Amino acid sequence: MEALLWTTLITVAIALAMLYPGWRLKRALAQPLAAAQLAILARNSPAYGGMPPDLRAQLQRLVQQFLHQKKYIGCEGLEIDDEVRLTIAGQACLLLLNRPSRVYPGLHTVLVYPSAFLVPRRQVDAAGVVTETRQDLLGESWGDGRVVLSWDHVQRAAREEGSGHNVVLHEFAHQLDSESGSNNGAPYLGNRSSYRSWAAVLSRDFANLRADALYQQQSVLDHYGATSPAEFFAVATETFFEKPHQMADFHPELYAEFLKYYRVDPRAWTAAPAAPTAQYGTVYGEWQ
Ligand SMILES: [Zn+2]
Repeated sequence: MEALLWTTLITVAIALAMLYPGWRLKRALAQPLAAAQLAILARNSPAYGGMPPDLRAQLQRLVQQFLHQKKYIGCEGLEIDDEVRLTIAGQACLLLLNRPSRVYPGLHTVLVYPSAFLVPRRQVDAAGVVTETRQDLLGESWGDGRVVLSWDHVQRAAREEGSGHNVVLHEFAHQLDSESGSNNGAPYLGNRSSYRSWAAVLSRDFANLRADALYQQQSVLDHYGATSPAEFFAVATETFFEKPHQMADFHPELYAEFLKYYRVDPRAWTAAPAAPTAQYGTVYGEWQ
């Protein structure tokens, strides 16, 4: 009898522990964003103003969930207020619109520095010589559930929409990439044929970008993307949301792969550049 009582109690405790987070999330989502918070989203999320109402509503809900589940830590005296919280959440959740994925399930903490932050780097060369250096970073994404950002640069990206650079989009693209188990430029895509075309298009455009970087040729994609396949995916994500018209013109097949993956077309809410983007000489895609 006593054993039965204990089994019942343990079962109830496990059920409560499993249901409690869902109940808390439901409660948080029932509380809509305040007018002042919506104003921050509108001000600092690329494209929010041009989005159709259903996408805006989706973004708001994703942001509510992000704010409920993720912890922010201000570093070097930075105070975390709604401006910081909403700006970062609004940009990060842009990558999740229309997609069935959860809200960065592996991420628990966003650390925010006032500006670029120094991190120690340890390099070992072929002869085994260890060099300790310190490197200035704007952002970092960790597989253990942390993203680190420079608030200065987050704000700059919000102000300079269309520049092609957005540190939040970049670091959260790394988070999506790592959901597949490794950070290699191939996020979780679903079926095998999606991986085939993704690998064919991305590896070709990655090789082309490496050549552009080597020969100092201008490209719509930042040359930093030539560093590795993971950086290529993160840089191409920034370009997809920040310069969609130019990316579609000069990397049509890459743009098509990102359309399939992100399930939104940022051209719909981004004005095309006034002058055609003739400075990028080569169209990568159709005929290679
Ligand atoms: Zn990166």
